[in-house]
Amino acid sequence: MKIIISSIPEEGLNLQFHKDSDWFRDLLPEKEKSDFSLQKVDVLCAVKKMRETVFIEGNLEATVVSSCSRCLETTQFLIKSTFRYTFVPAKNMLMEEELSPEDLEYGFYQDDVIDLDSLIFEQIVLQIPIKVLCRDTCKGLCPHCGININVANCGCRTEFIDERLAVLKKLKISDNK
Ligand SMILES: [Zn+2]
Ligand SMILES: [Zn+2]
Repeated sequence: MKIIISSIPEEGLNLQFHKDSDWFRDLLPEKEKSDFSLQKVDVLCAVKKMRETVFIEGNLEATVVSSCSRCLETTQFLIKSTFRYTFVPAKNMLMEEELSPEDLEYGFYQDDVIDLDSLIFEQIVLQIPIKVLCRDTCKGLCPHCGININVANCGCRTEFIDERLAVLKKLKISDNK
């Protein structure tokens, strides 16, 4: 979705839209395609213009599908984000020096257009955790046999603990010498 700046009315624009997984997939860079996918996103935003400066404020709710980084099972989670952007024409690029480099919410537009899609995309990607977990208490996979410990018990775990105890016992013996 693109916003044509000259067509923003005096009173501003209120936009509400819904995007699906195809929309998100098309925006993803090639290498990230397998990491996660989006099920849907709902966006509500208000666009206002003051002379050449455009203000965009809104919120989004998206359902993301990814695999748990511990047990590798597919998991779904909801992300919510509130965003605020200020866009100035690209010809005012010099102004950039006055802005703090951390100020991600500043943007520049060119040719009377703001690409709302890439803005929404950026907001979603920023909200996705680096380590996705199906639940905080996920037990992950058994390091020995690879079974998902959340759903089954393989019995390797006790052996594993025994091994560690054995090492401790040996250490104690050598201490006593
Ligand atoms: Zn998990
Ligand atoms: Zn096991």
